Amino acid sequence: MSSALRFQVVGEAFKKHPVEVKVPSERPSVFFGKYVFNRQKMATYLSAEVFEKMLAVMDGGATLDLATADIVAEGMKQWAMELGVTHTTHWFQPLTEGTAEKHDGFLVHDGHGGMIEEFTGKQLVQQEPDASSFPSGGIRSTFEARGYSAWDPASPVFVIGDTLMIPTVFIAYTGEALDYKAPLKKALHAVDTAATAVAQLFYPDVKKVISNLGWEQEYFLVDEGLYAARPDLLMTGRTLMGHDSAKNQQMDDHYFGSIPERVAAFMRDLEIQALELGIPCKTRHNEAAPNQFELAPIFEETNLAVDHNMLLMMLMKKVARHHGFRCLLHEKPFAGINGSGKHNNWSLMTDTGILLHSPGRTQTDNLRFITFIVETLMAVWRHNGLLKASIASASNAHRLGAHEAPPAIISSFLGTQLSAVLDHLEQSSDGAITFDNKHGLRLDIPQIPELLIDNTDRNRTSPFAFTGNRFEFRAVGAEANCASAMIALNSAVAEALNEFRRRVDELTTKGTDTMNAVLHIVQEDIRACKAVRFDGNGYSREWELEAERRGLDTEASVPLIIDRYLDPASVKMFSSTNVFERKELEARNEIKWDTYTKKIQIEARIFGDLCINHIVPVATRYQSQLTDSVHKMLDIFSKEKAHELSANNVSLIEQIAEHTSYITSNVERLVDARRVANRIDDVRSRAIAYHDTVAPLIEDIRRHVDKLELIVDDELWPLPKYRELLFIR
Ligand code: ADP
Ligand code: MG
Repeated sequence: MSSALRFQVVGEAFKKHPVEVKVPSERPSVFFGKYVFNRQKMATYLSAEVFEKMLAVMDGGATLDLATADIVAEGMKQWAMELGVTHTTHWFQPLTEGTAEKHDGFLVHDGHGGMIEEFTGKQLVQQEPDASSFPSGGIRSTFEARGYSAWDPASPVFVIGDTLMIPTVFIAYTGEALDYKAPLKKALHAVDTAATAVAQLFYPDVKKVISNLGWEQEYFLVDEGLYAARPDLLMTGRTLMGHDSAKNQQMDDHYFGSIPERVAAFMRDLEIQALELGIPCKTRHNEAAPNQFELAPIFEETNLAVDHNMLLMMLMKKVARHHGFRCLLHEKPFAGINGSGKHNNWSLMTDTGILLHSPGRTQTDNLRFITFIVETLMAVWRHNGLLKASIASASNAHRLGAHEAPPAIISSFLGTQLSAVLDHLEQSSDGAITFDNKHGLRLDIPQIPELLIDNTDRNRTSPFAFTGNRFEFRAVGAEANCASAMIALNSAVAEALNEFRRRVDELTTKGTDTMNAVLHIVQEDIRACKAVRFDGNGYSREWELEAERRGLDTEASVPLIIDRYLDPASVKMFSSTNVFERKELEARNEIKWDTYTKKIQIEARIFGDLCINHIVPVATRYQSQLTDSVHKMLDIFSKEKAHELSANNVSLIEQIAEHTSYITSNVERLVDARRVANRIDDVRSRAIAYHDTVAPLIEDIRRHVDKLELIVDDELWPLPKYRELLFIR
């Protein structure tokens, strides 16, 4: 496929695009949530009494009885049928990536020879998808239990096309979670309970604490025609070979640049559809790498935000195809330029509207602020290895530690001002800071003004940075389900807050007044978790060494990082917060190791095919063209003259021979390495073998393929090149 041909492919796409986007006549505030059975729709389609009951279910966690569920289902059906809906599905988040659904029609026999549409409360509330082929890490086979899905009323039902989508949890009959949502809901419950108990020390009227998540989704777009000509992209979501483009992101001319027309049409379309599904899209822009973009909504309650992110990723892929693009969510689709992440902005908020990680006006507010900052740091410090495990995957491994994204060490950046406050508190002796009821808290430092925490004091290299009124967990992968990170973070913070409250209570029962008790424990913890605070350059080699000295987890091998889930401290934390039992963690780890292995296995297979069937034959063909030319020179010129004139070609022939023979023999080694690894029974050891022996060979052979790309005639080169994939919009 010559570059002329490749451009022809793109030319065809340009004739068809940008496609006309159907822009609704109403304003976004009007069509927002058009396809969501939200509270307004409930108020319209349900009786006042049933609506009340639903509010108690959604907000108060009351259980839904079947009689009420029947009425709710009837209301939903009526609303959905007005939108032309004929089918319904339980929509869940299995431990594979993405989401799963199985559609059932509304149609049933009416008993008199005709048909009617029916949707019952039972169908709404619980189903048994035949899910035997979803990964369960052996839970179901061991316990002979079938999985069922159950409606999560906290996440509203919505319509896509002709289908009513019902967000559900997916669990085994023996109770173990087979998905992401079930443990996420437990983690959110745990952090609610723990944070409420701590918030009440400051504000007795707090009854509930909500975890917020605002994700920022990065992605690449590539032309669909070129994508189809790259078997590696098609099979693995990333390019396994490809030489750097002469120009990539070094000019910084893409970041925040004007958005190309075809892409703008895609974004407009995507946003409209996302808004109609109730996803509160807010910002869109070009990202650092060519053809890389970002979408971020306004933050929401974490459970809903996670569902919305899953939904958005699904939507992105679908809408991209409509515009002649493919959307790449892989963390590292192209070597040598930035990969894609998904920053998870996270905070806790009381039902009375206080952002617990935000400084306030009064001394009490500020002590509360510091308490929540420090206890979050305690969680991150205690479980830094686990948090890394929560974002580790075969694909995210290419991004972390690659001098563009956070390193494979979890630390936290606080900024100079907040660091100074903590340092000051740490050094103050007990007496220097006091609290009495008459004068309030005397922090012995100037009051922390509300907006003191400078938002521009940014450190892009930090994986867990404080950004004014929230923490930003930046190590999350673009393709990942945010739930994984949110389960670990919220559970770990719940544990820290539980511990905190317990220690404060211990002091108060001995007679210390509450605020002085809080202060005392905060000071202790500032000292305890100091190792996790790091404001310097996270990309530097010195930091790796320093982090090791500080006792932070510096492991970079994904299969070994996954071990952190089974550390005694992790098992204890998850068990005490009621999120996972050990058995579940073991089962889930089996899936993680197995997924890791399969990903590398697929890469190795397609890479070997490409080398042997695409690259080596083409290089050899070019080599024989060169050889012909050298021979022909001998026909025309004297031997000496011919040698002189052919010197360059002879050198190319030699280089090609060296590269192709290296590639051929090492692809054989790659196949052998796979064979050896495949024979290992233990799923963890197999993943380690894939990591240690298979993955590095791919990278090693790739270098030779990329060299050949520079040598071989462009007319012959079989794959679209980086410059074509990245600069055609
Ligand atoms: P950046 O400057 O890092 O690109 P933005 O200011 O665009 O970030 O915000 C990124 C995300 O953070 C958005 O989804 C936004 O709604 C979210 N966000 C803002 N405040 C909070 C908060 N207190 N808690 C959680 N998320 C928040
Ligand atoms: Mg950000």
